This record gives sequence, structure tokens and C-alpha cells, in this order.
Amino acid sequence: MLKIGIIGGGIAGCAAAYYLSKKTSGITIFEKDFIGAHSSGKSNGSIIPFIDYDINSYSEQLSDYAISVHNNLKMKFHSKFYYSKKPVVHLFKNNSYSKIYDNYKKNKLNKEFHFLSLGELRHIDARVSEEIDGGLYIKNSLEVDSYMLSKTFFDNAIQNGVNFVQKNINKIDADSGKQVRIFSDDESYNFDKIIISNGSWAESFFMDFFGKSILTPIKGQILRMKNITPGFKVSFWWGKNYITTKDQNITWLGTTHEDVGYDESITSDSKNQILQKAKEIFPFLDENFVVEQTACLRPMTKDSLPILGRLKDFENIFLCGGGSANGILFGPAMGKIMSKDIFEEQLDTYISEFSVNRFL
Ligand SMILES: Cc1cc2nc3c(=O)[nH]c(=O)nc-3n(C[C@H](O)[C@H](O)[C@H](O)COP(=O)(O)OP(=O)(O)OC[C@H]3O[C@@H](n4cnc5c(N)ncnc54)[C@H](O)[C@@H]3O)c2cc1C
Repeated sequence: MLKIGIIGGGIAGCAAAYYLSKKTSGITIFEKDFIGAHSSGKSNGSIIPFIDYDINSYSEQLSDYAISVHNNLKMKFHSKFYYSKKPVVHLFKNNSYSKIYDNYKKNKLNKEFHFLSLGELRHIDARVSEEIDGGLYIKNSLEVDSYMLSKTFFDNAIQNGVNFVQKNINKIDADSGKQVRIFSDDESYNFDKIIISNGSWAESFFMDFFGKSILTPIKGQILRMKNITPGFKVSFWWGKNYITTKDQNITWLGTTHEDVGYDESITSDSKNQILQKAKEIFPFLDENFVVEQTACLRPMTKDSLPILGRLKDFENIFLCGGGSANGILFGPAMGKIMSKDIFEEQLDTYISEFSVNRFL
């Protein structure tokens, strides 16, 4: 029996544990805090198809595959927690959409998108500011409670016999023969294969292996709001900001992109900045609606795309992370792909483009 260790209990590690647990026993997942304690438990949970890459690029293929995995999971879990179809509208000001619009005009967008004028937008939501020129409507998007999805992967994996160890893994000894030895403060563990899926904190392992930086933690803050009636029927985006109303009529307003190391604290500056940007689009919003503020870290790569597959020069170490700002979109697919890659099975989509080698 193959012994497999998974470092990190976010969506990437839990999805890998879930899909692997359907095939084999002997799996252990290590988590330093609790399942979904960081970005996988606090993200906005938008699952939006990629649109701004070249048609048929590897990123688009991975995105299409990721959406198909989510649609299957939604069928299975939507009665248990919030997992819903939710159209997205990207709002545009001052022709900021030119690249996407060019593709649209050339009939290159291969999915269900269409452009809306301000008048059409205001049929969807009359509160959109007159400053907006129009919007791109993306029908095939989803929204999920990313904490519940991560936790459900984990709970199902545990039911299938996966072991859980609540410890921080601080060292990986890859040179110990055929097996890989990993260390917590007080113990060591041997595995045939390990998966590194500890989000932004994988950077310290990358520094050990390559002596160079691969990931940057980028903090994002979100405001949760109550008593906005009616709620937002679609999820509105402008630039990297968004507003959406989820279950229990809670409206989520995001976000920031802050390069401040591993600091996950909330700040009033960011709260004001998020509100100020939102008021430009929805002038009625103010801080009286805010009931909660959260912060967490995106495991950001230089090209904002995930890192998948074997570690360079080490047969038994696999990487499953770097989800950047789309780690909930990609997480389940990444876990599924890893569960096949470890057993050298035929993969459903190409992953060589997502190897860590592209940064070395
Ligand atoms: C504000 C915000 C909003 C977002 N919204 C979206 C969105 O709408 N859609 C989307 O697709 N993506 C979104 N993302 C991105 C997404 O949340 C992340 O890419 C994704 O959650 C990363 O998952 P992960 O499992 O790789 O890492 P994490 O969720 O960070 O999990 C890693 C886990 O590993 C544990 N760990 C770390 N080091 C160790 C160690 N040495 N030993 C043991 N355990 C360890 C940590 O405690 C943590 O639980 C958002 C991110 C932010 C910050």
C-alpha cells in the first residue's frame, strides 16, 4: 500500500485527499491550524470561467475542466451547502474592456457571454451608477461556500479512512532514499509520496528546494453586509472588486490586493478603500451595512496560474497549489488531477504548462 502525506488542509489539500481516498488507503493530511482556516475558508467563492486568455490556451482548458468538476460537485452537494449558479457581470468604464470586446466582436469568445448596455444593466439592477458604460454578462458562473466545500472534501476523506494530524510540518527531507521524510517540531513521518499543498506557506519549502521565491502571499479583505434589499441577483465585478449576495441574504463586498507578508489582520484603511470603490458603482452603499470584515492570503504566483505536478528532480514530491486569485475555481480540479498524476494515470487535461519549472 502506497503511503501518501498531504501538507495543508485548504481546498487544494482536502480535494487531493478526497479524490485519493476513493482509490487507496494510507493517506495522511497535516494541517497546522484547522481545515479551511485561511483563504479556502474565507474566499469569495466565485467560480468564473477564464475569458481574457487566448482561446484554446492551456489556462482556458484548465478553467473549462475546473468548471466541469465543479458542476459535478454541485450536483452532489448543493442540497448540503451553498453551491449555486450565479451569473457574473463585469462592469466597464471608459472602454476598459477593449481586449475582451475585441475578441467578442471577432466572434472569438467560445462560451456564453454577451454584452449589455447601461440600459440593459439597469433592468438587472436599477442601482448601477450612470458612470458605467456597459457590462459583460457571463452566464456559466457559479458561487460556492468555499469553507463548506473544503470541509466536505475533508469529512468525506476522513470517512474513507484518511488520517488527520494537526501539526505544522517544518521540514522535508527529500534525500532519504525512496521515501520522503517530513518533520514537525516533535516527530518525523515517512511517506512513499507527498503532496505540498500548504497555500502561501509553501514558499518556505520552495526557498529550501530552489533558493528562490516562487509564491507571494497577497492579502485580500472582504466586507460582509446585512439588510441590503433587494440583494444582488447577479455578482457584479469592476476591476478586481466585486459585490454579490449569498445565502441568508448576506452581501459580500471585496476586495484588496496587499503585499504585506503573512499579516492576516483586518484594517480600517482597507475597509474604507473597499467602500469608497463600491460607492462609485453603487452610491447607496455605506458602512452601516457592514457586519463583518475578514482577511486572508492568496498564494500568488508570478503569472497568477497554479503550480501542478512533480517537483523538479524529485520523483516522489508533488506540488498542488499557487491557486492565486482563482484557487477555489481550480482547487477541486487540481486535487483530482493530483490523484491521477500520483498513480501515473491518463490525465483529463494538460498540466505540463503548470509545472514549477516555468519559474526556475
Ligand atoms: C479575499 C480573497 C478572496 C478570494 N476569492 C476567490 C474567489 O472568489 N474565487 C477563487 O477561485 N479564488 C478566490 N480566492 C483565492 C483562493 O481563496 C485561494 O487561491 C485558495 O483558497 C488557496 O487554497 P490552498 O488550499 O492552496 O491554500 P490555503 O487555503 O491557504 O490552505 C493552506 C493550508 O495549509 C496550512 N499550512 C500551511 N503551512 C503548513 C505547514 N507547514 N504544515 C501544515 N499545514 C500548513 C494552512 O494552515 C492552511 O490551512 C480568494 C482569496 C482571497 C484572499
